[in-house]
Amino acid sequence: MAHAEPALGVCGICAGPMGEAFIAREQHLGLGDAFRYAACADCGTVQLIDPPASFERYYPAGYYSYEVEALAARIAAEPWRTRLARRWVGAALLRGGRAARLARRWRSWLAQDFPVWLEGEGARLGLRRDARVLDVGCGAGGHLLQLASYGFARLEGVDAFVAGDIRHPGGVFIRRGELPSVSGRFDLVMFHHSLEHMPEPVAALRAAHRLLAPGGRLLVRIPVLGEAWRRYREDWVQLDAPRHRFLFSREAFLRAAAGAGFAPLSVRCDSGAFQFWGSEQYRLGIALNSPRSWQRDPLASPFSPAQVREWAAQAEQLNAALEGDQACFVLRRVDEERIAA
Ligand SMILES: [Zn+2]
Repeated sequence: MAHAEPALGVCGICAGPMGEAFIAREQHLGLGDAFRYAACADCGTVQLIDPPASFERYYPAGYYSYEVEALAARIAAEPWRTRLARRWVGAALLRGGRAARLARRWRSWLAQDFPVWLEGEGARLGLRRDARVLDVGCGAGGHLLQLASYGFARLEGVDAFVAGDIRHPGGVFIRRGELPSVSGRFDLVMFHHSLEHMPEPVAALRAAHRLLAPGGRLLVRIPVLGEAWRRYREDWVQLDAPRHRFLFSREAFLRAAAGAGFAPLSVRCDSGAFQFWGSEQYRLGIALNSPRSWQRDPLASPFSPAQVREWAAQAEQLNAALEGDQACFVLRRVDEERIAA
């Protein structure tokens, strides 16, 4: 690791002192630009020390998945019978357990688009189909469209980097803007790999608290410091300089969330083989977008399918031990009076 002087300034999460800075390079797009990161000496959160004046260069057009357009077209064209069957399957998958197994046996192809982070989480999220859902940093709205295809109807998203406002079929509205521009009341606020991109994640959590109805739920999926961070450090693929500005440990995130008025309901790791093949590629100097990248062309990649399967198995083991490199947190909004007490 290339060491620099101790980082100036204080932690953006707990205001603690910062440890030694190190250099990480932009390797997703293959630009190679260098950035300074450091870990907080108190809470351990790894953070970007010197953000660029503008991030536009790091979120080029096409950064967001085009799969969203295909999903929107499919929803718009689906016959009503299929739509009804998909709703039934979705309700069963949301319940989880035996109902989900039966639904999958009955119509497995209708279960394919159901989001994995939602399966069996209906009760914990207190989620019904008339729930008001906000997705923060939603990109082109893939997660919201998935929910729409299973019958959820009150769906809104906000994203600072989309080209403009988007109206998808199924009543999905996406606003180009920052979180403070959102008004209204929601039953569920979600951050799917967006919180780590934000300049002030604790302020974003407080804003989510203000937007949630009493008893509302918060779902946060973020990269977390685990085995992959310790193994790969500046080449850890989910450091993703400079887009990822804050990388929390599980404990540090739960402390920050508690400070913003949230109590945890569940934590699970949902990492995959990506943490290994992505980080190994960075060590070899192969960008995620390179023609030699595993995700672009497995045949041109230095890894064999057997190797990637082995990494997927390792990821499962790490997830079971809560050591995977990303996690899904479900939290409950705590009333203001309780926080003050
Ligand atoms: Zn800290």
